[in-house]
Amino acid sequence: MNTDVIIAGAGPVGLFLACELALAQCSVLILEKEAQPDSPLKQLPFGIRGLSSPTITALYHRGMLHQLELHKHMKQPHSIPGQPPKKPAGHFAGITLNYEDIDTSQWPYQLPGAPDFGMMSEMHELETVLTKRAIEMGVQIHRGLPITGFTQHQDGVTVQAGDQTFTTNWLVGCDGSRSVVRKQGGFEFAGTEPEFTGYSCKVVLQDPEKLRPGRNVMPTGMYFQSQPGYLLLQDFDGGAFHSSDKPVTVAYLQTLLRRIAETDVTISSLEVATTWTDRARQATAYRNGRVLLAGDAAHIHSPLGGQGLNLGIGDAMNLGWKLAATIHGTAPAGLLDTYFTERHPIGAKVLDWSRAQVAIMQATPASRALNAIFRDLINTRDGATYFAGRIWGIHNRYDLGDSHPLVGRIVPDFEFEDGTRLGELMQDGKGVLLDFTANSQFKSIAAGYNGRLLHTGKAAIDRLGLSVILVRPDGIVAWAGEPATFQELPEVIFRWFGNIEHEEVPLTGN
Ligand SMILES: Cc1cc2nc3c(=O)[nH]c(=O)nc-3n(C[C@H](O)[C@H](O)[C@H](O)COP(=O)(O)OP(=O)(O)OC[C@H]3O[C@@H](n4cnc5c(N)ncnc54)[C@H](O)[C@@H]3O)c2cc1C
Repeated sequence: MNTDVIIAGAGPVGLFLACELALAQCSVLILEKEAQPDSPLKQLPFGIRGLSSPTITALYHRGMLHQLELHKHMKQPHSIPGQPPKKPAGHFAGITLNYEDIDTSQWPYQLPGAPDFGMMSEMHELETVLTKRAIEMGVQIHRGLPITGFTQHQDGVTVQAGDQTFTTNWLVGCDGSRSVVRKQGGFEFAGTEPEFTGYSCKVVLQDPEKLRPGRNVMPTGMYFQSQPGYLLLQDFDGGAFHSSDKPVTVAYLQTLLRRIAETDVTISSLEVATTWTDRARQATAYRNGRVLLAGDAAHIHSPLGGQGLNLGIGDAMNLGWKLAATIHGTAPAGLLDTYFTERHPIGAKVLDWSRAQVAIMQATPASRALNAIFRDLINTRDGATYFAGRIWGIHNRYDLGDSHPLVGRIVPDFEFEDGTRLGELMQDGKGVLLDFTANSQFKSIAAGYNGRLLHTGKAAIDRLGLSVILVRPDGIVAWAGEPATFQELPEVIFRWFGNIEHEEVPLTGN
């Protein structure tokens, strides 16, 4: 029997997408290259990842947020020995953003009690939570089976993994930055070459006190020591070392560390090391026939400022319900194409965000001058608010061609008068028609969609001056209107949910 979807890669993006598809009643098989999910680089402290507001909301909307126990809220003070405690809210090019400087009142549509804007998580924990959910929902995960090739035909895709062959209706490459699906699927991967090689390593230091704690931007690079022996380094070598595929040896690492940190620190042994770069590339299409890309397979950039995972989870949240509707035959024409038109611009912005950081971290006079100006700006209230809005994804908005400022953004987490919240209604992955006017005709319209569109006429404690809101399954506001504009609603519902499955009801504003 054909599987609806085969996903290449059981990383966070592949797992999240699998859960979304299974929630929408699609059969899913994940083929994962690695035999075991555990890697020291996915555990603390290397596996630590900053989660942005859209990712946190996605996890909350699917009832998984509370399962991430290891997270630390960014606004909790973190102390560096010898320095007064700060409340860091992220960084731009190594310049720390202070929580106290951010004016969250500049962001409309945030409601009390909603999930926080930013938090830290750990890759291993996130993948464990997602794997458990995927398995509970019937997703099959075959480990130790790398996809080696595939062939598209009119009705589906034949996938080769080692000596095994699988057939599927759709293939999604979530197989990371070196994606085989992208390389073999005829996708163009356009962008810019790297300026540096980055290193994540665990070493034993003879004299760790010779290194300063925290993030240190130095004349020839950057070093970050989160705990004694856990190091992140950045060396502006044009990415040469990473491209060489040479192993990282103790001798090499010690020379590099001494040069960047400008101290004669000694490394006695090396436990684990990996390299990465700021190469920034993005697929110029996310779909070729029945083959799609998501996550690092679709876009790569430096991890500066921590955006890649968030970008990938955003892809999965956007793609899941659209691909499921396409599979079930309920998608309106062109729905699947909006995956690319909505997600590609968000990805392009993140690539530029990482390029901008690299540009002001180099050891050139121009770079240093720009860095000083950025530092001043980040220390202003408006500057900090702008940078936090970008880093936490608050400014993310899809252009859905509507002038209402809420359309294209994540729906606020309304609290209803019965004590429940909108987030609880989103857990089934359906669209929601939030109707604060309790118009009985809206209920009939939603009923026509056979459970694909929920209607709620519950009163909200604070409805932010809004009357009716159409929310897509991915939590994005598709329409927000007043009684005078209610006539627009059936067309907007059709645009996202397709044909009504029951008899149509004429709409009035009463
Ligand atoms: C040092 C560092 C710090 C970072 N910090 C942050 C941060 O704070 N916030 C943030 O948002 N992002 C951060 N990132 C980026 C983030 O880790 C990635 O963007 C994210 O892991 C991408 O997820 P993914 O599922 O797309 O790819 P991956 O996590 O790479 O998963 C891909 C999976 O596919 C599998 N695979 C590969 N090839 C095949 C094949 N042929 N067949 C089957 N399976 C295959 C792999 O084994 C892997 O399990 C950081 C990255 C680095 C390196």
